Amino acid sequence: MSEFDYDLFVIGGGSGGVRAARLAAGLGKRVAVAEEYRFGGTCVIRGCVPKKLYVYASQFPEHFEDAAGYGWTVPEATFDWKTLVANKEREITRLEGLYRKGLENAGAEIIEARATLVDRHTLDVGGRRVTADKIIIAVGGRPNPHLALPGHEHCIFSNEAFDLAELPRAIVIEGGGYIAVEFANIFHGLGVDTTLVYRGKEILSRFDQDLRRELHATMEAKGIKILCHDVLTEIEKRGEGDLLVHLKSGKTIEASQVMLAIGRLPNTEGLGLEAAGVETGKGGEIPVDNYSRTNVDNIWALGDVTNRVQLTPVAIHEAMCFIETEYRNNPTEVDHDMIATAVFSQPEIGTVGLSEDEAAKRFDRLEIYRASFRPMRHTLSGRQEKMLMKLVVDGDSRRVIGAHVMGPDAGEMAQLLGIALKARLSKDDFDRTMAVHPSAAEELVTMYAPTYRVEKGERVG
Ligand code: NDP
Repeated sequence: MSEFDYDLFVIGGGSGGVRAARLAAGLGKRVAVAEEYRFGGTCVIRGCVPKKLYVYASQFPEHFEDAAGYGWTVPEATFDWKTLVANKEREITRLEGLYRKGLENAGAEIIEARATLVDRHTLDVGGRRVTADKIIIAVGGRPNPHLALPGHEHCIFSNEAFDLAELPRAIVIEGGGYIAVEFANIFHGLGVDTTLVYRGKEILSRFDQDLRRELHATMEAKGIKILCHDVLTEIEKRGEGDLLVHLKSGKTIEASQVMLAIGRLPNTEGLGLEAAGVETGKGGEIPVDNYSRTNVDNIWALGDVTNRVQLTPVAIHEAMCFIETEYRNNPTEVDHDMIATAVFSQPEIGTVGLSEDEAAKRFDRLEIYRASFRPMRHTLSGRQEKMLMKLVVDGDSRRVIGAHVMGPDAGEMAQLLGIALKARLSKDDFDRTMAVHPSAAEELVTMYAPTYRVEKGERVG
């Protein structure tokens, strides 16, 4: 019998923590998982899941418009924000229940309290002391509150955006990453006067230039105002739901809500990390090795709190590597290479591998295959939006090292492209693949000749 109360104690009931706890308990380990808020974590409660539901909600006005070209007459539509919020809440409550059930069925103990570390094997859970052989810290992150911004207390973050009492009349969103771009499209689609303010030259700084430019242009054509090279300098409250946003450029914008989406910070404060000897990095994140182990050899950290790649499937993968390594005698390093990802903007972006610019820094010769076309659906709808597809190919090995799609279902395509790129398939494999017709994705296997080449960073031909 072990000297500890538990074989494994998991702090945090999000994607990574729940997966590790459930699998370990399923293997017969004595497991507890502590969560201070709601099971499911950011992804289920106030991230990916409600976000995608709101994306669907915000797309209906365009669907109604597009229907006319197909012969439909749609009566004037009205939207009720409170219905959406209530229905979203019902769905995430259902999912939260499934997470709990999965843990219970596997035999993990659920502790609804904040857990903090007392030493490397001891935890305080709501005033009670427990001990564990191994500990996983999977406490996630929270929006950067931007405390240096005068008037930051008048701002909301993605957490609050889902549950606003009323849909804002006008919103200013700061940031140019996933959250800012997705929410700008959601609010605009729901009829809110939307302005996006981004400090850099072009939104979505880590994505391929072509997609960034096209998405920017398409969002503007829909009516979203995008101000680049600018930042918020003050939020002035003039009354209830009446804010004046001051920008560095000297411009001012009136808004009923201001949302900040300028990145997320790890939730490591007050966790007792020092007491347990766990080191943190400059931004409060917990550095770990390739097996997610911290500097303390019986303590691991998974997911957003490590600030490696802040994505749900990555946290889940990290949890599974932990289980393989520690409980299945199969040492498995975390593999962060070639992670496919989607931005649920409108139109959507799906991407995997290197952007053209990144590839040009690492490879001497590139072939770029690029197609821009109007998706078939829009031929009768009359919508002018283009679809964009781009493959970045290493000119020497012919391996496809980047695949980028903007348009309907781009996220779904990215998942499958992810398999092809992970398998290190070559452009010849793509060329040998029969097209699915008529589809938009067929373009990915029918771009036979390069649009241009890049040699030593310079575009040629
Ligand atoms: P991101 O890192 O994607 O974007 C942060 C944005 O804020 C960047 O545009 C950044 O600019 C800007 N920024 C950073 N600091 C400041 C500052 N001080 N002043 C002004 N602007 C600033 O973070 P998000 O908050 O959008 O999302 C957090 C994470 O959540 C993402 O990294 C992603 O991993 C995950 N996520 C994933 C989603 C998905 O998979 N679809 C959806 C939502 C979130 P710059 O580019 O110049 O650095």
